[in-house]
Amino acid sequence: MAASSLPAPGTKYGPCADPCQHTDCAATRAMADRNCAGCADKIGYDQRFFCEDDGSLLHLKCWQPDNPPSPQFDPSSNPALDNRKLPRNQRSGRSIHW
Ligand SMILES: [Zn+2]
Ligand SMILES: [Zn+2]
Repeated sequence: MAASSLPAPGTKYGPCADPCQHTDCAATRAMADRNCAGCADKIGYDQRFFCEDDGSLLHLKCWQPDNPPSPQFDPSSNPALDNRKLPRNQRSGRSIHW
């Protein structure tokens, strides 16, 4: 189980802000539009989430840490997470460091 997040549309690594035909953009939008298995809200952008073994998606903030996953997530593999603020996570009052 690995954590990741989706860069917001219009940002350097995010999908186009306007409708487009790019396969990558469509894939990112489709994933952001999926519902969290915990809170049933959309996964959305700039939120850390897990992709579970069964393929369902779960916000990091909605995940109940019964069995903490090993911190296999490598930020260097996703430069979109570098030097970026995550305002929604900050608003939750929690800071999570791997
Ligand atoms: Zn695009
Ligand atoms: Zn959720």
